[in-house]
Amino acid sequence: MSYTEDLAKQRIEILMEKAEEIFDEDPERSHRYARLAWRIKLKTRVKFPKKWKRRFCRKCKIFLVPNKTCRIRLNNSKVTITCLNCGKIKRIPI
Ligand SMILES: [Zn+2]
Repeated sequence: MSYTEDLAKQRIEILMEKAEEIFDEDPERSHRYARLAWRIKLKTRVKFPKKWKRRFCRKCKIFLVPNKTCRIRLNNSKVTITCLNCGKIKRIPI
């Protein structure tokens, strides 16, 4: 792993953690942090950390918080995540 790739991953991690941290206080700021993290991902082509991958809506570019900005359902072999802002549905096999 190259230095920049490592750094990019670290920054994404930090931004997403902050987004989580401040969501209740300032949701707009947390969406901004998530967008920044996503931009780093696009620019550097690193993979979004698994933990955070499902926490960002690619369509309307917001930070997804279960029961607040998204709904998460589990069925047989899939996790279904619905963005409550734009209605985008993401299905992830377990
Ligand atoms: Zn959305």
